[in-house]
Amino acid sequence: MERLIIVGSGCAGLTAAIYAARANLSPLVLEGRHPGGQLSTTTLVDEWLDTEALIIASGASARYLGLENERKLIGHGLTSCATCDGAFYKNVPVCVIGGGDSAAEESLFLTRFASKVYLIHRRDTMRASKIMQDRVFANKKIEPIWDTVVTEYIPDEKGEMRAVRLRNVKTNEEQELAVACVFVAIGHDPNTREYRGKLDMDTDGYLITKNLVESRHPGVFVAGDVADRIYKQAVTAAGSGCAAAMDAEKYLSELESDA
Ligand code: NAP
Repeated sequence: MERLIIVGSGCAGLTAAIYAARANLSPLVLEGRHPGGQLSTTTLVDEWLDTEALIIASGASARYLGLENERKLIGHGLTSCATCDGAFYKNVPVCVIGGGDSAAEESLFLTRFASKVYLIHRRDTMRASKIMQDRVFANKKIEPIWDTVVTEYIPDEKGEMRAVRLRNVKTNEEQELAVACVFVAIGHDPNTREYRGKLDMDTDGYLITKNLVESRHPGVFVAGDVADRIYKQAVTAAGSGCAAAMDAEKYLSELESDA
């Protein structure tokens, strides 16, 4: 029996752990396959309703295309975060894959640094909001490439991204496009599979909270990207991790005073 278990070792989970430790709760942190964040397979949590308190901070994983050398290139010209990596690509061409608000937002952000931003989308219309589309189309640095998918990442001899191979899905024509970095913006999947049927979640699997970090089960709190489809920043995850730990501490104190 543990007093407080935190599932997840990303920003939300570790911040929750710091605050919980400062409150003398001796939290047990369950770490996933990716220590420090982006927990992609949640640790088995058996009989979790018999823990005194639980903070779920299991994060969300960025979707990637699943191409052969993809994993190796992450951090070498392949990323899912323009805010994190955009500034490393000054005055060079880059591309963004996707047609949603994330792809639009990332493309616009990248125009501050890159010489050119190709927006590669598998259809000929974006699903991004109208206002974001208008901004994208008004920006001369962004060139949309429609009806097109990336079929191959092509690294240079040092293993850094040099180009992508593209295929037009309507004509099947192929071309090579030189880019120094590929920003994949095709959505995220919250790591909540284990909580299906147990906690409230929206249609995409993001956990639904009330009062910022409370779940519908007393003693079960939620923090970070696992419940955040919009901000997804280290600082917002850390903020909710702190809130979850403070609420867990209050919950445990109340349990003790009732006993
Ligand atoms: P999204 O809306 O699900 O869009 C994902 C895009 O990626 C779609 O255009 C989709 O193409 C494409 N895609 C998916 N899988 C693909 C694949 N395997 N290969 C190539 N393309 C693929 O995801 P999002 O843009 O991350 O947005 C998620 C939510 O957050 C949305 O509700 C969005 O409005 C919101 N959001 C809002 C803002 C903002 O308001 N500033 C910013 C970011 C996100 P199809 O269109 O063909 O399906």
